[in-house]
Amino acid sequence: MIIEILTLFPEMFEAFQTFSILGRAVEKNLVSIQTHNIRDFADNKHKQADDYPYGGGAGMVLMPQPLSDSIKHVLSRYPKEEQAGELGAKSPKVIYLSPQGKVLNQKLALQLSKEPALILLCGHYEGIDQRVIDRYVDMEISIGDYVLTGGEIPAMVLIDCITRLIPGVLGSSESILEESHSNSLLEYPHYTRPAVYDGDEVPQILLSGNHKEIERWRRQQSLRNTMQKRPDLLNKEVLTKEDWKLLKELEDFF
Ligand code: SAM
Repeated sequence: MIIEILTLFPEMFEAFQTFSILGRAVEKNLVSIQTHNIRDFADNKHKQADDYPYGGGAGMVLMPQPLSDSIKHVLSRYPKEEQAGELGAKSPKVIYLSPQGKVLNQKLALQLSKEPALILLCGHYEGIDQRVIDRYVDMEISIGDYVLTGGEIPAMVLIDCITRLIPGVLGSSESILEESHSNSLLEYPHYTRPAVYDGDEVPQILLSGNHKEIERWRRQQSLRNTMQKRPDLLNKEVLTKEDWKLLKELEDFF
C-alpha cells in the first residue's frame, strides 16, 4: 500500500515510519509512506499556506490553492479513474483527518487496509478551506470525539491501525482475528514468564498444555472482559449456546 501524506510538518513522520512493526513493513516494501509539504505548493513569495478566516474569528485556515495543488500533484501520479481497470490501479481515496469525520474503528480500518493507495490530508489551525473538502475529499475520518492541534497524530493513528491489517505485516494473521474489536468481544488477558511473579501466579490452566481447555478459558475470559469493561460492544445475538454456558459459570455477573 502507498500512503501519501499532505502535511505542513512532514518531519513528524520520519521517526514514526522507521520503528517496530511499521518500520519492518516499510523495509519489506509492504507499505510505502510518502510525505508532501503543503507549503511547497504555495504559489506566493513567502510560501504562506494559511490565512485569516472570512467572517472573522480566531485562528487561521489552510488556503485552498496550496492544498488543491498538492492534492492534484499526488493524484496526477496515479492513472485516472477511467483507466483504472486496464492498469489495475485506481485513483486513491482522499481522506481528510477531521474531528467532524466518521469515527475510526476496526471495521473501517480493515476496509481501508484493502486499498492499494490512500491520500491523507492533515489540517492545522482552525482547519482547511471548505471548498477543498467539497471538491476533493472522499471521506473525513476522526480518531475520536476530541480536538487535536493538527491532523498529523490522527494520520499516524490511522496508518498504524491500517498497516497492521495488511497481510504479511504482522507475524501471525491469527493474532488479528482474536484481537479486541475484531469481533464483538474484547480479547482475553495475557501472561508471560515467570509463572510466579512477586507472589502472583499465572492461571494454572495456561500451564496445563491442554489446548482445548485453554481455548475455552480464553473465550470465557473474553466474555468476562467485555461484560465488565465494554458491555455496549457485546452483541448477544452472535453468542453461541456454549458462550451462554461460559457466561453462566461466571457467577459474579448474575
Ligand atoms: N476548527 C475545527 C473544528 O472545530 O472542527 C478543528 C480544527 S483542529 C484544531 C486542526 C486540525 O486537526 C483539523 O483540521 C484536523 O486535521 C485535525 N484534528 C483535530 N482533531 C481531530 C480528530 N479528533 N480526528 C482527526 N483529526 C483531527
